[in-house]
Amino acid sequence: MATPSLKPVAGDRHPSVEFSTRAAVDLPSLVMVVLEWVSVAWAYAGHASGTLSAAATVAIGLLGMNLAFTVWHEGIHQTLARGRRLNDVLGRLGAIPVFISYDRLRVHHLLHHRFTNEPHKDPDYWQIRGPFWALALRYFAGERESRALCRAASPSEGSSRADHVQILASLGVLAVLSWVSPWSALWAIVVPRLALCYVHAFYLNYLPHVGLPAGRHQGARMITVGRATSWLMLQHNYHALHHAFPAIPWHRYARAYPRVADELRARGITELTLRAAFPLALTLRKAPERS
Ligand SMILES: [Zn+2]
Repeated sequence: MATPSLKPVAGDRHPSVEFSTRAAVDLPSLVMVVLEWVSVAWAYAGHASGTLSAAATVAIGLLGMNLAFTVWHEGIHQTLARGRRLNDVLGRLGAIPVFISYDRLRVHHLLHHRFTNEPHKDPDYWQIRGPFWALALRYFAGERESRALCRAASPSEGSSRADHVQILASLGVLAVLSWVSPWSALWAIVVPRLALCYVHAFYLNYLPHVGLPAGRHQGARMITVGRATSWLMLQHNYHALHHAFPAIPWHRYARAYPRVADELRARGITELTLRAAFPLALTLRKAPERS
């Protein structure tokens, strides 16, 4: 299998939508990187100093880590900065607090875009293969499969030295923080990180993909929500728009959508209200297997 292209392909960009990557750095995403790090540091330091309860620490840690997906995801799609090196530095900064291997995830995510909802080809498909509540039960088998897919697609990035250094350094920092204040590390980092698996799987994978056929456009849906909920979801309710035009930065989805809505519908993209999508994502017993 060939390495997925890291450059925007024809159709990724839309002629009528502006791109903030004309600037050297995408400012909203830069703010997000800072907020992610500050939140996790604040959670740990606040609990260690006795000013935050365990519940507040978990909440702040989780809110901060929730920003991680958007940061590394923008990095992978090269919308964080005009320069490739700075883009990847910022993307990796987003991945560090959540112990995610940035290079491997690049391959993983581009495979997801190329083979959306295709069993044994889409590295995210294992998540929506069964019920949401049983996600943890298939985690190790699913991770094994997605790692194998990444290594097969790109041996160098699927298991890169930079990733190994990054993860070892993160685990070293976590070990030191645990030694200094074990309960603070547990509530500020470990518990939020575990909870994040379910949070991100739910609104970034189940809601937009579950129950849909394979395909770049038919495999992702729009979720209709109010403006406030859209911002709470960091605009990922426009996930199908992202699959159609991955070069549009996250904070421009809402403005871009009215201009491309008809075009997306013509491509077979469907919409679902949050009220309809929520129970579907929660209660689906088994997605129909397609191969
Ligand atoms: Zn993407």
